[in-house]
Parts: sequence; C-alpha cells; structure tokens
Amino acid sequence: MKNKEVAEIFNKVAALLEIKGDNPYRIRAYQRAAQVIEALTTDVEELAKQGKLERLPGIGPDLASKIKEILRTGTLSLYEELKKEIPPVLLTFLEIPGLGPKKVKAIYEKFGITSIEELEKACKEHKIAKLPGFGWKTEENILKGIKLFREKIGRRPLGEILPLAEKITEILKKESPVENISIAGSIRRRRETVKDIDVLITSTEPEKVMKKVVELPLVEEIIAFGETKTSVRVKAGQSTIQMDIRVVEPDSWGAALAYFTGSKAHNIRVRELALEKGLKINEYGVFKGETKIAGKTEKEVYASIGLPFIPPELREDRGEIEAALQGKLPKLVEYNEIIGDGHVHSKYSDGTASLEEIMEKAEKLGLSWVAVCDHSQSLKVAGGVPVEDLFKKKRRIEELNKRSSKVKLIFGAEVDILSDGTLDYPDEVLKEIDFVIAAIHTGFQQSEEQITNRIISALKHPLVHAVAHPTGRVIGERDPYAVNLSKILEVAAQYGKALEINAYYKRLDLNDVNARAAKEKGIPLIIGTDAHFIDQMEYIHLGTAVARRAWCEKKDILNTLSYEEFMNWLKKLRANSR
Ligand SMILES: [Zn+2]
Ligand SMILES: [Zn+2]
Repeated sequence: MKNKEVAEIFNKVAALLEIKGDNPYRIRAYQRAAQVIEALTTDVEELAKQGKLERLPGIGPDLASKIKEILRTGTLSLYEELKKEIPPVLLTFLEIPGLGPKKVKAIYEKFGITSIEELEKACKEHKIAKLPGFGWKTEENILKGIKLFREKIGRRPLGEILPLAEKITEILKKESPVENISIAGSIRRRRETVKDIDVLITSTEPEKVMKKVVELPLVEEIIAFGETKTSVRVKAGQSTIQMDIRVVEPDSWGAALAYFTGSKAHNIRVRELALEKGLKINEYGVFKGETKIAGKTEKEVYASIGLPFIPPELREDRGEIEAALQGKLPKLVEYNEIIGDGHVHSKYSDGTASLEEIMEKAEKLGLSWVAVCDHSQSLKVAGGVPVEDLFKKKRRIEELNKRSSKVKLIFGAEVDILSDGTLDYPDEVLKEIDFVIAAIHTGFQQSEEQITNRIISALKHPLVHAVAHPTGRVIGERDPYAVNLSKILEVAAQYGKALEINAYYKRLDLNDVNARAAKEKGIPLIIGTDAHFIDQMEYIHLGTAVARRAWCEKKDILNTLSYEEFMNWLKKLRANSR
C-alpha cells in the first residue's frame, strides 16, 4: 500500500504552500486529499488502476493525476519545485512536533534562523515568545519538540522498520542463494525504536546474494558493496534507513548472531563471563587458546560459558545474566500464546471497520476474541458513542457471537476519564458494558498530581477493569503526560486492575520498563492494538514484544486467556470490587 507515501507528499505540499503564503483553498484541498487517502482501507494503487480515484471525496481530475504521478515516479514535480523555492531548513523545521507552517514562516521571516541550533538558542533567549501569536508556552513546546525531533532522526519506530526488514529477508530467501538468513541488532531484540537494519547470512555464493541486495527496488543508495559486507540505504516511508548485510561462515553463525544482536551492554557481560572461564569470545566463535570450542549456534555459544539460551528480547543487561546464572530466567510469553486483542475501535466510534470485518480479521490472525472498545460519548472528535448506539452495538455483538464459533467479540468501551476524574458514562450504563477500559484523552496540560489522581480514581471505580495507554506518550511526537506511575502501579495492584500494553506502533504504552515494573507488582497486563484501521490489528505482535522485553510470562498477560476465561476474569473483578 502506497497510501501513506501519497498522503505524506500531499501534506508536505500543503505545508510548503502555506509557508509560501499560497491560496488557503488550494492548501486545504491538499490537506483534505491527504486525510482521505490516509484513511482509505483500500490500496490507492488499486483505485488508480480501476480509474476510481475521482470518485474519492475531494479528489478531482487534477489531484487524481497528481496521485498517479506519485505512484508512477515516487514523487511529485510540484513538490520537488516547491522544495527548491524554500530554504531546506524550513522543511526540517516542519518535522519538529509543535511547529506548523505558520509558525515556521513567522520565525524565518523575523529572525532569518537557518538551523535547529539557532532556533533552540532563540527560544532559550526568549526571543521567540515576543513574536505576535507566540508566547512562553510556545517556546517551551518548541524546545520539547526539538528534543523529540533529535531523538527521532536517529531512531525510527520498530513498527515501521520491522515489516520492511522482514520483507527484504523474505525476498532474499526466495530469490537468492542464501542458506541461513536472520535479522540481528535492535530489531531482533524488538527495541521500540531502531537505528538501522542488520542482516546476517550464510551462503556459498555470497556475490550473487549481494548482487540481489543492491538490485532491490527498495534500495536508494549503495554505500559500500563487498562480498562479505554490503551497506545500502533502503527506502522507508519518506526517508531512508541504512541496512548492513554480512556474510558469515556457517561455523560462526551462532557467534555472529549473538555478537550482532547485542545489546552492547549484554555482550560486554557475556565477554566478562567468558574471560573468567579463561575463554575468548568474539563474532567468530568461543576460543580456548587457539582452539574454537563453540560458534555454530547461539545455544552452543551460551552453553560454552555456562548459560542457557537467553531470548533476544532480554539481552539488555537488565539482570538477565544473573537470572540465567541462577536458572531463574522467565519462560517468556510466546507470540502464539496471545489469542485475544484487548482494544479495537469499530465504526461505532472513529474506527473504519465494521464488527463483521473485525471478526474476519481476527480469524485470519488466529485470534479467538477481540474487545471492541469504542470511545465514550464526550470524545466528539473521535466519534464518541452516545448511549443509544451503545446498546445497538451490544445487541449486534450478541447476534454475531451466536453465529461465530471461532471468534467472539467482547462488548467494550474506552471510557474517557474526564478532567475531574469522573467517567464519561453513568454507572448504570457502565455496568452493562462487559469490558471497561478507562483512558485520558484530554487535559494533558494538567499537573502531575491532577493527572495521577484522575487515573487513580478511575482505577478505584468498581466498574472499571483496566486503564489504556497509561502514560500517554507517542513515540517521536509527544512525551508522556505528567504522571506519577509508581502511585498508579500501587493502586492498580491493590485493586487488582489491569494496565494496558498498547500495541499501536507509535504508542507501545506501557513500555518495556514500565510493564516490567507492573508485572513485578503482580498487575495483570492486557495487550490492545488500539486499531482504528483493520490492518492495524496486525500490530498485536509489537505488544507481545513489549511484554517479552518486560520479562512477562503467560500468566502475566490476560490475552493468553480463552474467551470464557477472560469473561470470567472480568466478571469476577467486578464482583470483588463491589
Ligand atoms: Zn485512547
Ligand atoms: Zn483507543
């Protein structure tokens, strides 16, 4: 699907036109087209082939031909021209969260600022606050945005890069003479953001594999071409990411995999352990003097220094070496043990899928249940469900469940925690909802005490089962809201309430460290994709990855329960909360 790429180019064109001071209607047309395309559930390429682009709302012949141009050439001549007219640094400024075209334009015209460092300095000297329409708050937001931007340019969300890396290894497996192939590095450890793609292979004809690599249509630039190592830049959305691919000897496969999977901190500890045993360990193997004693598999490498195999998700030097030495490594929850999705939006609120489509997708993904949690009534921007519709939805779910034996839907709601800590449906409505997951979507600017108390009062509410995305962070876009998480964990543990591991690739909230803290307090965790588009249900594995990085076992995760078991858990929790 090229939908995202097309939408991104239209958004950028709109921003550039705005900086230029172009006609507002023209700007709006591009913004609207971007929204429409981004929200499509069908492939824009398919629509173009069928000649159906003009049928989309807001897309006339002119925009349709521009979409075709992007599909054909990967870019738009108008966009390329606009980029030439405008100082490139302003394009970079637009990437800073909190800075829109209007502000960028004002800053540039007034101060002629041409670098992020200058912008940062001007904020710190409070020059920006004096501009009309700006203020202290804006300055603060720009500084925060700069920090997020700097984090972002180095690292990309795992959910953007993992599918790409998997696609590449699939192609190489099918179309080139590789024997073993594996993704290594932070992708294999499932870190929430990644810097590059590391791939290892064994092959008797490495030159053919490398040739295939540089011929991949995704490759934008060849950095280095060699028979043992090739580095390229691969297209990833509107930018690129470096991919290093290395050929290793079959005899060193395990050693190389361990070495290039990292983390650095973990590898240092492993090396120290080896040294204590009089062994030397490197990417080629484990050596006693000149003799190689291990290297073929990772298991063999770990065994040679007296350790069991350590799953990649744990290799962060966060206690896994000590646990392994004591035989106390957790038996991590497996990806295929997750049989439910705890948080999906349907057409009843701002989701795009019908209940039937959700059921169908769940079956394809091998799930047995999905909690359909639409937004509550006040959240108008997100199509919050009024009480009348809520009961229509309940009845429809009951009908569908009767017909389906493989997948059951659960009547849920993502209920807003209002700014005073009360919930967005009255109790007599809440008690009819089988799964209530409460969440904060407004009032982010409140103090730590206020936000913490809001969440705590939701957790204490006898009809609430769980809290969604407990810290509110959005990777690369928004820091967590001010919240005292340890207080939240205390109350959740005390009341037996669940916390969510939101699996949307930009949220992953709770993150690995926080989810581990929750697990250690015995708090049940529930993974939810928060899917608003049907394909986003595929992100469930990203939530499982967070759970594994949080040392979670099967018993820690509610999504491993069968439909009946989960429904019982929900009922029991309420019975005990009365
Ligand atoms: Zn939410
Ligand atoms: Zn949601």
